Amino acid sequence: MSISKKISESMKNQSWIREMFELGNSLKQEYGEKNVYDLSLGNPGSEPSKEFIKSIQSLLSNPTPGMHRYMPNAGYPATRDAVANHLSKIFNVGFSFENIIMTCGAGGSLNVILKSILDYKDEIIIFSPFFPEYLHYVENHGGNPIIIPANENFLPDVETLQKSITNKTKGIIINSPNNPTGVVYPQSTIDEIGIALTQAEEKYGNTIHLISDEPYARLVYKPYKNPSIFSAYTNSILATSFSKDLSLAGERIGYAAINPNHVSRNELINAFTFSNRILGFVNAPALMQNIIPKIIDSIVDVSWYENKRNYLMKNLIELGYEFPDPGGAFFIFAKSPIPNDIEFVKNLLEYKVLVTPGTGFGKQGYFRISYSVEDWVLEGAIQGFSKVINN
Ligand code: PLP
Repeated sequence: MSISKKISESMKNQSWIREMFELGNSLKQEYGEKNVYDLSLGNPGSEPSKEFIKSIQSLLSNPTPGMHRYMPNAGYPATRDAVANHLSKIFNVGFSFENIIMTCGAGGSLNVILKSILDYKDEIIIFSPFFPEYLHYVENHGGNPIIIPANENFLPDVETLQKSITNKTKGIIINSPNNPTGVVYPQSTIDEIGIALTQAEEKYGNTIHLISDEPYARLVYKPYKNPSIFSAYTNSILATSFSKDLSLAGERIGYAAINPNHVSRNELINAFTFSNRILGFVNAPALMQNIIPKIIDSIVDVSWYENKRNYLMKNLIELGYEFPDPGGAFFIFAKSPIPNDIEFVKNLLEYKVLVTPGTGFGKQGYFRISYSVEDWVLEGAIQGFSKVINN
């Protein structure tokens, strides 16, 4: 075999994703793209703002010498400064550029963080259901992902968290608004996590990092507000990107922000910078780093998502589907009408509707709908949801 056992094993474990993908593709070939209702994708559907297009046109028409060269591995100081100012306004905490490293998306950010903090078999706690890449990201750096269930409201279960921390725990990953549930965590949950981690740090004498993955932080619908990790816990790190809130997923631009009061902030920023280099990212894309300071306070049209969410919620509830309130992101995580979610997802394919089984996110008996699609896709899908639940 010319590929590693580890990669071969990981790919095998995800064979159902490939199966779904292939089934979806063959449906599209057989019936035409316009007759298949694909709610399985995580791509942001809305377009970047006019401001973004104008900024990039203006930059390319007035190039500055060296703008396509390498820069310091942490990114341009001016871009880091702009991110620091942006965060200081949102969180009412004084960030400086020295707390920020620019990365290749939130995925790059998480890998830089984990590379920097993990020794072999160190543990990272993750709540299920979860973004499946977390397992790979932790294992990429020799870590051991410890999966614990969220509570019945799909919020981190703080009691289970307390029981799961050991002297090998280096951090926990949380994600609000959540993929796959769309649930927005309340501030009280983050505050409780902060207290639990502080107690655990005292008990074990180790630093335990609260890593918050927040690429959907600005896709939040009233009355929800995404919580602050920075006010809740000192040893906290934000991993995020402009993939969703500026619709720049393909441009691979994001950052990590270290709490300015983190006990190891200086050591961490140096480690992140080094890890960005040795992971081969080297630096975040230069063109995007030049654009971000100009557009950082803008945002895509959130109502584009909110209207679709409202339409789906109303129709799914009428049909009898149950799901936690999707306060943010662009996902609904609904209970499968039959216990076997993979079977249910296959049944839905008969009506040419594609969704992702909860099994793929570590939660059987549920399925994820991504509503980052055109309205006709949602309308067609509702027909399928209706037929499959009434059969
Ligand atoms: N974290 C979550 C929860 C996601 O859903 C995604 C992308 O879908 C990412 C991280 C990675 O995003 P990025 O494009 O910023 O790397």
